[in-house]
Amino acid sequence: MTTLTGIPVSSGIAIGKALILKESKQEISKKTIENIDIEKMRFEKARKEGIRQIDAIYKKTLKSLGEEKAAVFHAHKMMIEDMELVKSVENYIEENNCNVEYALHEVTKNLILLFKQMDNEYMRERAADLQDIEGRLQKILSGNVEEDLSHIEEPVILIAEDLTPSQTAQMDTTKILGFITELGGKTSHAGIFAKTLGIPAIVGVNNNLLEKLSNNQKVAFDGSTGEIYIDPTKEQLQILGHKLDEHKEYIKKINQVKGKSAKTIDGFTIELAGNIGNPKEAKYVLDNEGCGIGLFRTEFLYMGKEGLPSEEEQFKAYKSVATLMKEKPVIIRTLDIGGDKQLDYLEMPKEMNPFLGFRAIRLCLKKEDIFKTQLRAILRASVYGNLKVMFPMICSMEELNKAKELLEKAKLELEKENIPFNSNIEIGMMIETPATAVLADLFIKEVDFFSIGTNDLVQYTLAVDRINEHVSNLYSPYNPAVLRLIKNTIEAAKNNNKWVGICGEAASDPLLIPVWLYFGVNELSMSPNLLMEAKWIIRSISNKQLDENIRNILLLNSGSEIKEALIKLNKEIL
Ligand code: PEP
Ligand code: MG
Repeated sequence: MTTLTGIPVSSGIAIGKALILKESKQEISKKTIENIDIEKMRFEKARKEGIRQIDAIYKKTLKSLGEEKAAVFHAHKMMIEDMELVKSVENYIEENNCNVEYALHEVTKNLILLFKQMDNEYMRERAADLQDIEGRLQKILSGNVEEDLSHIEEPVILIAEDLTPSQTAQMDTTKILGFITELGGKTSHAGIFAKTLGIPAIVGVNNNLLEKLSNNQKVAFDGSTGEIYIDPTKEQLQILGHKLDEHKEYIKKINQVKGKSAKTIDGFTIELAGNIGNPKEAKYVLDNEGCGIGLFRTEFLYMGKEGLPSEEEQFKAYKSVATLMKEKPVIIRTLDIGGDKQLDYLEMPKEMNPFLGFRAIRLCLKKEDIFKTQLRAILRASVYGNLKVMFPMICSMEELNKAKELLEKAKLELEKENIPFNSNIEIGMMIETPATAVLADLFIKEVDFFSIGTNDLVQYTLAVDRINEHVSNLYSPYNPAVLRLIKNTIEAAKNNNKWVGICGEAASDPLLIPVWLYFGVNELSMSPNLLMEAKWIIRSISNKQLDENIRNILLLNSGSEIKEALIKLNKEIL
């Protein structure tokens, strides 16, 4: 029996036989060739086949997982079609009089190295995409078929050095109980796909995992803690089996609240809304009985493309969500690019601290034309439903005023052009920086509503980079400093009879939902698949019962004590 740990990226228990996915490493050696043109033609043919394969995977992923997840294959296509890459490989063939396999390997090796050395985690992850593309092209050149995992006959736990986005997106969830990889971090695509597919997964297990395991060996793991058991003992299996049964029972229990309202035992109602990244996901919000869209992250309309989306393209996207949601509110957050979200086609400064740099509203206020195009599109779509506009990452009153000024300018333009829009569209701002949480009483006078973005609020309050796994143990929404800022924000809104929601990941944290209820927040907005659980928790709580408990918990002076007390409370009341 061996116990290992890795980075948990997708929760759930998996128990089963290991299937080791050993990529048959092709030997790529340098060969002197006689005809350069033949090598170039072979490359062209392989690229064409590669594009055909990627198109097919894109379509399949779009259908099964939606646009946001399929976007990575659009990016792959752009990479494979990139003329710079083609030219570099062809030049290498010419200059070295060598075979295409070797030229491709050398060119991509250097590019991958370049990506890996970048400060930006998002760009570092792109190295994996390039590796994926090289692997695909090498397989095509060698005549080998892609390891597509379709040959798996009985349910297994997949063990691999790394998994490409193509492999993960195509997994048959009835055959793959879970997966563990040696490489990867919290933001790697494999983890993101696993979560969407509902497959438990652990990545970043450094201990020569592949050498410790052989095919058919028994493995068990807990995707929420990162614990892995090789040849688990009877006792360990019992514990995990018990956890698995409990989880199944839990899901059954949660689903009993379908069709019921999000009301506490003593009649206090809270709005539960969904977060979306593209128009297609709005349907999942309705399927899970969300009362609206609390956060539409519009930056995904800008990502995985070759250029900025036009006003018309954006208008259509916003209009489709507004129309689908009918009278239900839809909060459209203006572009939040920068930080870990980059646009390949937009020239951005190379920054030492991208999260503290040229991001979100800062970028929009500098690039007024981009911002105004988006504002016009939102305004035009506002006549088709109940749209609201929200500005991200505000730090100062000057920024808020400037953003509102530009919204007014966009309105004037449309008026002049006789284009209809809702002139009373509600304006909100995200509270994601301590500056605005502290001054919430001033900011609330200037907007119609607040939405608290805990993902960033935690990062900026505790000075902990939200995507850096080396400090992830310090990232805590339970820290009393964070909770006080949130309390202050909610109180400011309530004192001014304004509406306030929470839309960061902490909104759906089962331990924190009682705290948000106690604070009197109006709305919690989260991934659509978490809405039913949140409703079940709310329906199991009485506000009265919370009062004394939460008041005392908030007197504790550290995040770990607060978390511990909330776990205890959770066990008592649920
Ligand atoms: C947040 O910061 O909590 C938030 C919802 O925005 P994002 O995660 O997109 O930065
Ligand atoms: Mg944010």
